Amino acid sequence: MKTKPKPAAAKAPPRRDPLSQRCNSIEESITLALTDKVAQLKAKGVDVVSFGAGEPDFDTPAHIKQAANDALAKGMTKYTSSSGILALRKAVAAKLQKENGLSYDPQTQILICAGGKQAIFNVIQAMLDPGDECLLAAPYWVSYPEMVKTAGAVPVIVPTREAEGFKMTPRALDKAITRRTKLFIHCSPSNPTGIVYSEDEQRALARVFVDRGVHVLSDEVYEKLVYGDAKHFSIAQASPEAKDLTIVVNSFSKSYAMTGWRMGYAAGPASIIGGSAKIQSQSTSNPNSITQYACITALEGDQSAIGMMRAEYEKRRDTIVQRLNAIPGISCIKPDGAFYAFPRVDRLFGKKHSGRVVSDANVLAEMLLDIARVLVVPGPGFGAPEYVRLSYATSMKVILEGLDRIEKFVRELV
Ligand code: PLP
Repeated sequence: MKTKPKPAAAKAPPRRDPLSQRCNSIEESITLALTDKVAQLKAKGVDVVSFGAGEPDFDTPAHIKQAANDALAKGMTKYTSSSGILALRKAVAAKLQKENGLSYDPQTQILICAGGKQAIFNVIQAMLDPGDECLLAAPYWVSYPEMVKTAGAVPVIVPTREAEGFKMTPRALDKAITRRTKLFIHCSPSNPTGIVYSEDEQRALARVFVDRGVHVLSDEVYEKLVYGDAKHFSIAQASPEAKDLTIVVNSFSKSYAMTGWRMGYAAGPASIIGGSAKIQSQSTSNPNSITQYACITALEGDQSAIGMMRAEYEKRRDTIVQRLNAIPGISCIKPDGAFYAFPRVDRLFGKKHSGRVVSDANVLAEMLLDIARVLVVPGPGFGAPEYVRLSYATSMKVILEGLDRIEKFVRELV
């Protein structure tokens, strides 16, 4: 009897990459990855000095913590309006009016988010389509290009020169704008360079983007951290036309030492804020309810902690810059804001320590961690391969110890 031939085994479908192309196209945040690495080393008992984290070493002021306790006690533990409670949106509008001379409708022009980062992400998702171009001055904050890529848009990097204070010039901005340019992300005070654009410089840039009809996302999360004679002037203040094209992003993280609380906001044209709110309503729903109540107190309560923190950062800045410039092969401009030093280190490239060659800033950072037990963030992630970033949001004692270690390492290079 003839047996029926067995059917050929069904062919397994071709294996598909479980990750999207969009996910594969972006890099992890280098600063967050390095922060985790230091935490792991410290947990193993390794004595590491970290200049990595961009977060204040100060505690959140007591009256803000108390406001969170009060909100908890009152049972403010439910979902809120997706755009944030109206009382906080009104407090943000009052702050922007009083401190920046910018007037916004709290109902339609302000969005409360889980940190400045979520505000930037929402605005990018709301505004950019695949193929749109988004301008960034290099050195830039590590997250901007990656966020732009998550929208399928193209980050267009405009290099700046240290000799010009790492600042985007009106000419360079004008030259970089094409028919596809939809957004320019502008950061002052800047992470990673700490530079602060003056009022005149902001006005000159504003004339260009108003003339060319390009929107600007103005990242002002370091607004309160300016030193010496430097003053923060929002690019949205340049003219009514500039304000109409600008989305201001700010945060409670750096000003009030509230990084872990996750609270920030965006203010701008109702159409863009509405679009960003729609994105938020379909992702995180609303920012943390308790934090929102605490942030009303942050804005309306005693502001003296900011002055205290700023004075301390300024002393640290002076020390770190002076010490870095005293190390052979390293040079560092004196930044006017934020809490980062951004020294140029390429004169160390090609030198050796313990048989290893400092071939670039990534390797330098690796060797500093392995040999000197100091964490610095390498510049390539900021679009600046000749530099490294040191955060001075850490105590003076730690800063001095870290600089001693860096100096010893550099002096041992051959
Ligand atoms: N923008 C810049 C330039 C930053 O450096 C950071 C944080 O490091 C943020 C935005 C986001 O801060 P957060 O999400 O904590 O408000």
